[in-house]
Amino acid sequence: LLALFWFRRDLRLADNVGLFRALTENDAVIPVFIFDKDILDELPRQDRRVAFLHGAIADLKARLQAAGSDLVVRHARGREAIPALVKEFGASAVFTNEDYEPDAHQRDAAVIDALDALGIPLRLFKDTVIFSSSEILTKQGRPYTVFTPYKNAWRKALKPEHYAEAPSMDHLKSLKKVDGGKMPTLEALGFEPLSSKDPHPEPTPDGASKRLDRFVAKVIDGYKQSRDLPAVPGTSYLSVYNRFGLLSVRHLVRASLKAIEGSQGAAREGAETWLSELVWRDFYFQFLYHHPTAVDGPYREEYTALEWENDDGLFQAWCDGQTGYPLVDAAMAQINSTGYMHNRLRMVTASFLTKDLLVDYRKGEAYFAVALIDYDQAANNGGWQWAASTGCDPQPYFRIFSPSRQSERYDPDGEFIKRFLPVFKDVPGKYLHAPWEHTAKLAEYGIELGKHYPKPVVDHDERRLKALDIFKAARAAA
Ligand code: FAD
Repeated sequence: LLALFWFRRDLRLADNVGLFRALTENDAVIPVFIFDKDILDELPRQDRRVAFLHGAIADLKARLQAAGSDLVVRHARGREAIPALVKEFGASAVFTNEDYEPDAHQRDAAVIDALDALGIPLRLFKDTVIFSSSEILTKQGRPYTVFTPYKNAWRKALKPEHYAEAPSMDHLKSLKKVDGGKMPTLEALGFEPLSSKDPHPEPTPDGASKRLDRFVAKVIDGYKQSRDLPAVPGTSYLSVYNRFGLLSVRHLVRASLKAIEGSQGAAREGAETWLSELVWRDFYFQFLYHHPTAVDGPYREEYTALEWENDDGLFQAWCDGQTGYPLVDAAMAQINSTGYMHNRLRMVTASFLTKDLLVDYRKGEAYFAVALIDYDQAANNGGWQWAASTGCDPQPYFRIFSPSRQSERYDPDGEFIKRFLPVFKDVPGKYLHAPWEHTAKLAEYGIELGKHYPKPVVDHDERRLKALDIFKAARAAA
């Protein structure tokens, strides 16, 4: 029996369920990867994610060659390329891991139909998550839409078999010796290389392991507090690796359970809190799977009629980090220059766009989708609908973040702000949370608002009231 193994968001040889099953259930396996034109053709020509993906595929190909095989890489439409490869190699099955995004689901349905016509099965396995879409359900058999009861049920259901390693590395001898041909360059895929100044994470499982090891050794114990402070390296920075599956989620769960078991008190809480973040990841995957229309608009129907102002100038000021609110602007400088934004700041900037600038969250969601190197439709949509109060388990609409208070609380010394807004590098942090209240002090440092740094584009207190009005109006009309 000869099977294809189709890599998608699981770009690793180790602890890979679908690969393990392919290797153990067939005499020979040919690994394949498709740079999918349906996805790539929509993206800007300079795209950090594609650069990361390209690097990860080159690394995977080299590893497969070292194991005596190769990675067959095609630049084509996924739904057409897979049946074509089946014919080319005379495969009798295609093995792959499940992908829960609505578009991926549709693509897989099309591939299943095309393979059906050839009498070939597409074998799908759970690998990206601990519990897939319908494994954790309420007592009434419905999908959860509120996180805490979902998390409790998830924790209760968790057994060692759910996070056991899939020993794919032990069976690499079943890989077929094949000539995968040359890897298309980034330019051949239609993309420009990143400038060497653009910071990019090492696109390899080793790069991911280094981050995990550092996090477990130095950070996880204090994670409960450190995770909210953007100026310190207080989180794992693994999201891009999780997005493309360079580490298995079971490996992460094993690491967090080990940290939980080996500690007590605050350190134990740190590790528990980190495990909860991995549960959020499963939660949003299962939510979107069951509610695919949430990709198009508010999950809460009462908010479909929200009257966003959608002022183009204000939206542009937000994108460019020119709002006059230093924490928001520093956060936008972070995403624009690195492709990453700290979680606290994703909440702050999303809240600011929706509740202070009264811009439809879908515009911010789309902006993040292009800017984030770790862009994940389920987490991004979930995060935006949380901040906009339109989602499944959202921030209540009347609890509106004050950007200055958030700044005082989470960047008290202005360390993060100064890192990304060098204009303020010599100014004491206390003047940076609401600089318009300290114009005389700023003048001592040669800074004039409106000249060296923008005046606030809106008044938070006024806009807060306006936001409350539009939410109340939508609720009343529903
Ligand atoms: P850690 O704090 O170390 O968390 C560990 C892992 O858990 C992360 O790597 C990630 O895989 C997962 N995780 C953490 N928080 C969440 C969450 N709220 N939802 C789902 N998974 C989570 N995360 C993305 O991976 N891609 C996105 O496109 C994305 N967009 C977001 C948009 C908004 C508006 C908000 C509020 C959050 C978004 N998040 C997104 C969630 C979160 O901000 C990032 O996962 C996190 O900042 C990544 O940093 P880290 O790897 O250091 O996380």
